[in-house]
Amino acid sequence: MNEYDSEIMAGLLKDSGYHLADEMEVADVILLNTCYVREKVKHKVYSKLGELKKLKEKKPGLILGLCGCLVQKEPKETLRQAPYLDFILGTSNFFELPQVLREICGDNRGGGERGDQVAVPFMAQARKRRTQVVRVEEGRAVPENLPKLRKRKFGAFVPVIRGCDNFCSYCNVPYVRGREKSRSPKDILKEIEGLTHQGYKEVILLGQNVNSYGRGLEKKIDFADLLGLVNQIEGLSRIRFTTSHPKDLSDKLIKRMAELDKVCEHLHLPIQSGSNRILSRMNRGYTREEYKCLVDKVHQIIPQISFTTDIIVGFPGETEKDFEDTLDLVKEIGFDGAFTFCYSPLAGTKATEFKKRVSQEVSKERLRKLIEVQQGITLERNKPLIGQNLEVLVEGISKKSPYELEGRTRGNKIVIFKGKENLIGELISLRITEAGCWALRGEGELTI
Ligand code: SF4
Repeated sequence: MNEYDSEIMAGLLKDSGYHLADEMEVADVILLNTCYVREKVKHKVYSKLGELKKLKEKKPGLILGLCGCLVQKEPKETLRQAPYLDFILGTSNFFELPQVLREICGDNRGGGERGDQVAVPFMAQARKRRTQVVRVEEGRAVPENLPKLRKRKFGAFVPVIRGCDNFCSYCNVPYVRGREKSRSPKDILKEIEGLTHQGYKEVILLGQNVNSYGRGLEKKIDFADLLGLVNQIEGLSRIRFTTSHPKDLSDKLIKRMAELDKVCEHLHLPIQSGSNRILSRMNRGYTREEYKCLVDKVHQIIPQISFTTDIIVGFPGETEKDFEDTLDLVKEIGFDGAFTFCYSPLAGTKATEFKKRVSQEVSKERLRKLIEVQQGITLERNKPLIGQNLEVLVEGISKKSPYELEGRTRGNKIVIFKGKENLIGELISLRITEAGCWALRGEGELTI
């Protein structure tokens, strides 16, 4: 979501006459868009701001801004830590960026929320300015039809719902992103149609919990219905979505996933822990048995599904037995992949009040064990793919191997292969020749 908001900010700036600088040193405006899901983020941001402060001292015209979740959560603290910031914009104000820049530069001509088409002759204006702008409101809807400078050229993010009503005890999303707000299906479809005209073949529907899409909308619609509508868009080949909350994964949605040809056979379903005691303390709203039952159901209806998950270890009160329960469930389910984390207390969340903190050493050791187990499982899940011909959307030059390309299967597996750069963005068929735990290797590309 944060990346998508950054694409909007870049798009707004481009429409206002700015262009992306290749290096920080030559930029006239530097923006950090912060995601605050872990306390560590805060230290990283302030350390980065410390560096930028030095740059600003050398170049007084430089405009420095901070946006996103950290600012939304702690505006006063942010300004106390970094009083030299020229502006801060919260998660409900980031789209006011062009207007805010004009205010800073002493140009108060106003304009719409987009600050349409008023290019600022930057450095000249910047020398005059000295206003610090602070905009951190709550719950404002993000306007539709904002311009975007898309970073991803092969698959585009499209938010369908923003915010969250779930209040997991370790998470601050409901506080920094507000309550759930679904976009209208009309706006979503219009955005995706526009993307297909630009040549995008894949969309990734985004939401903190896509499964609660539609609540509060005038028209009666749920996420399964929305998938059906998106599936009808001509020119689109693949639909992905993230994230699904297990408690809201309906039978209707599972059935619809199986029926719709463009919906990829991949489900990211965060489990977080395999211990019922910890799941309850996390306020997740399901038990390990219910989660397992869901996974079995999906496997029955979509046998080729690939499952990934998120797991937190070292949650306050997690005993060795709780951790063993998580390991057992991980082995029993056999996830294709897992994003694993040590619990990190986040100020203002319920979990910070819980007693019996798990020490860092213990958390790290549990994480190490979990990763080791999961890597073995991922490898075992990948091996049967050897010899199969799989559809791959080519995403770009491989991050692991600069002379090769990489793409993604419908099951969300990365495939590395030798090929010409003009294949980037194309759907091809590759025969899988090797399986590792991070990626597969393929050959013999055929454009589909
Ligand atoms: S579902 Fe829980 S973890 Fe996910 S965004 Fe909402 S509160 Fe946070």
